[in-house]
Amino acid sequence: MTRNIDKVVLITGASSGIGEATARELAQAGARLFIGARRADRLEALTGELGENAAWRTLDVTDGDDFEAFVAAAEAQFGRIDVLVNNAGVMPLSPLAALKRDEWKRMIDVNVHGVLNGIAAVLPRFVAQGHGHVINVASVAAHIVLPTAAVYCGTKHMVRAVTEGLRQEHDEIRSTLISPGVVATELGHDITDPAVAAALKGWRQKSLTPDAVARAVRYALEQPEGVDINEVIVRPVAAD
Ligand code: NDP
Repeated sequence: MTRNIDKVVLITGASSGIGEATARELAQAGARLFIGARRADRLEALTGELGENAAWRTLDVTDGDDFEAFVAAAEAQFGRIDVLVNNAGVMPLSPLAALKRDEWKRMIDVNVHGVLNGIAAVLPRFVAQGHGHVINVASVAAHIVLPTAAVYCGTKHMVRAVTEGLRQEHDEIRSTLISPGVVATELGHDITDPAVAAALKGWRQKSLTPDAVARAVRYALEQPEGVDINEVIVRPVAAD
């Protein structure tokens, strides 16, 4: 196989949606993949499809020790790590007045601490080897704030800030933010507010399929060494 992407790539949230599509896209480009999420059955099935250049381990991104063990397992499997795609995320939207504090906390835990735990696990390795690439999947919600999405947008603004901070602090590390618009995935399946769940169905009338975002990740990875793609925004044509 010609390896367009001769790299070891770790992907979080690869059990569905954008993470799964990214694993498929990068496997076609020849990357070696180590994928994680909580649903083992999905990861096992996907890895079986992708073949010998893919391996998996369960991962809860909110647990820093688990993330460290995930990265160590990838290193043991493939001998090195070149790229981390921090993709795992949740979006239980609701108006602030609903006071769904448990859902606010879950979004912050997964979308913010999950990304930070990932960076903490790979950063010392990338510094030691003198290269590495962190790709964080944020959202157009990293640029705007929408009703019922204040906390979600806040988490994505944070991911954008951290991605830029990483770029500024580390010349040896490439740092990319991928900001999708609406994508048809399982995201938001756990919205508990019926009005917001109905509104999400409306927004999804005009949506991307996950492979569109996967191609943006591939684009960032296929650049020559001296090129750092800092942000890609991918929306459906004629999105609001
Ligand atoms: P999905 O719900 O299809 O995928 C989310 C993934 O995150 C799943 O694989 C899930 O796996 C994983 N995940 C959730 N919690 C955890 C956790 N604690 N530990 C590890 N993995 C976890 O949604 P998308 O593919 O759409 O979402 C991927 C990313 O894209 C998210 O960051 C999302 O915010 C972002 N995004 C999505 C948009 C959209 O419209 N769909 C638009 C803009 C950004 P499991 O449950 O097995 O752990």
